[in-house]
Amino acid sequence: MSFENYGFKTTKDLETKATESHYAVGAFNFNNLEQIKAIMKAASEMSSPVILAASHGATNYAGTPFIVHMAAAAKQSFPIVELALHLDHGLDFEKCKECIDLGFSSVMIDASKNPLEENIKQCKEVVDYAHKFGVSVEGELGRLYGVEDEINVSEAEAAMTDPEDASYFVKQSGIDSLAVSIGNSHGLYKTDNPFIDLDRLNKIKDKVSVPLVLHGASGIPEDSVRNACKIGIAKVNIDTECRLAFRREIDKFVAANPFDDHKTNTYDPRKVVGPTINAMAKVIKMKIEWFGSQNKL
Ligand SMILES: [Zn+2]
Repeated sequence: MSFENYGFKTTKDLETKATESHYAVGAFNFNNLEQIKAIMKAASEMSSPVILAASHGATNYAGTPFIVHMAAAAKQSFPIVELALHLDHGLDFEKCKECIDLGFSSVMIDASKNPLEENIKQCKEVVDYAHKFGVSVEGELGRLYGVEDEINVSEAEAAMTDPEDASYFVKQSGIDSLAVSIGNSHGLYKTDNPFIDLDRLNKIKDKVSVPLVLHGASGIPEDSVRNACKIGIAKVNIDTECRLAFRREIDKFVAANPFDDHKTNTYDPRKVVGPTINAMAKVIKMKIEWFGSQNKL
C-alpha cells in the first residue's frame, strides 16, 4: 500500500518546509500505543508537524504491519496533523524495502559503520528503490557514539562528519537528507553539557544541499538545540528522554500502588501504563517548542 493512501507526508516534504523557515521537525520514536498517543497528543496540542519514527528494532518488536497501522490510526484520529512515518536506522536493504512496501513514507539506511564508498553503495540501492515510490531516504555519514537498539558505537569508533566527504556522499548516493555527527550521541550523555560543534554544522550546511538531521538529541542543552535548528538542522530525533519519562512514570505508579490482588487498579494495564502518555507528551511538547515547529500546520 502506498503511503499516500494513509495520508502520510514524506520527510522530504516536511524537512524542506522546515529548512526554508529555519525550524526543525521532531522525530519521536514509538514501539507501542502509549508512545504514539503521546506523540500525537503533543503534536496536535502544539499544532506541529511530526515524524513518527520506528526503528529497525521497533518493527521487529511490534511487527511492521502493526507499526504502519498504528500510524494510519494516528493520522485518522488527528487528520489536521501533518505526519511522516519514518524507519529509523534501517540496517539493510531488505528492512527498508519491507517498510516501503507496507506504507512508510520515509526510510533511513544506516550504513555509516562502513567505509565511505560502501556507505554510498548501500544508500544508493535503497534510494533507487524508494524513489520509484516517492519515498524519502535518509543516510548517515560519521558515527555517533552511544547505544541505540542494535547499534553500539564505542568512543574510539565514533567519528565526526567531514564537510567535504558529506558533499560527495550526498551527491553520489542521491539521499534526500543527511544525518550528521557533530558531537551528538545516542542514549544517555556522560556529561550534562555535551559539546555540539556548531562550526562544523555551519560548514556542512554550506557544502550540502539536502536537509540535515540531528540524531541523539536527548540530553543536548536547549541553547545548542535551538542554535542547531536555526543553522539548518531540519529534523531532530528524540527517543531516550521519552523512554526516561515512561520509566519514571511507571516507577511512580508502582511505588504508589503496590500490587494487591483485591484491587484491580493495581494490575489494570491501562492504570499502570496509561499515565505515561501525559508524561511523555509533556517532554515532546517542550522539544517541539525548542525546535520551533509549533503553529506550523
Ligand atoms: Zn539515531
